[in-house]
Amino acid sequence: MVVKPQKIDRLVLATGNQGKIRELKRLLAGTGIVLQGISDYPEFVMPEENGRTFLDNARLKARALGKVTGTWVLSDDSGLVVDALQGAPGVHSARYAGPRATDRDNNLKLLSVLDGIEDDKRAAAFHCVLVLRSPEGNEWTFAGRCRGRIARAPSGSGGFGYDPVFLAPPDFQRTMAELSPAEKNALSHRGAALEKLCDWLAGA
Ligand code: IMP
Repeated sequence: MVVKPQKIDRLVLATGNQGKIRELKRLLAGTGIVLQGISDYPEFVMPEENGRTFLDNARLKARALGKVTGTWVLSDDSGLVVDALQGAPGVHSARYAGPRATDRDNNLKLLSVLDGIEDDKRAAAFHCVLVLRSPEGNEWTFAGRCRGRIARAPSGSGGFGYDPVFLAPPDFQRTMAELSPAEKNALSHRGAALEKLCDWLAGA
């Protein structure tokens, strides 16, 4: 039987994405857990994210990093799922407009692919899967989702990735990039997954 940890003092985050790091640090502030980045482990090479699901990719990252550090690690795999595109870009969110695509390239491609699609057919969701891995190699998974709608044009400068084109719930009036970090964390996919992790750690 895998025993739940009593206390985690330190966690290494299996991501180089500065947007995710900023949000995870904010979300974990107050838990007493010290967060470390992968830059402390220059020997770590991020594995190719060739899984079919967010969970596959989150596991790949957690396992690769855990093997190098021998510590508790936390990985995040996340992305945008658009109903009208049968779930695309999904696990390809980071590379939607090509292998070297910037956030802006991805957003412009998405808006162009959805050109002419009515507002009520622009439903989408952000998904996040977190994998927490112990030094012994036990793993726990936490998932979160945030449903919204793709805007007609980018707006706002906060957040990262697809935030400027994602109209946030409940009223779809502002994009995620127009919300404060606290507002985004309160309704985001990452916030929802991390809340589950924190509840679980607290024994709720
Ligand atoms: P990966 O999890 O590193 O494979 O990449 C996730 C990609 O999904 C990011 O590069 C973003 O394009 C997108 N993404 C994930 N979470 C968010 C978010 O909170 N806001 C906007 N885009 C996100």
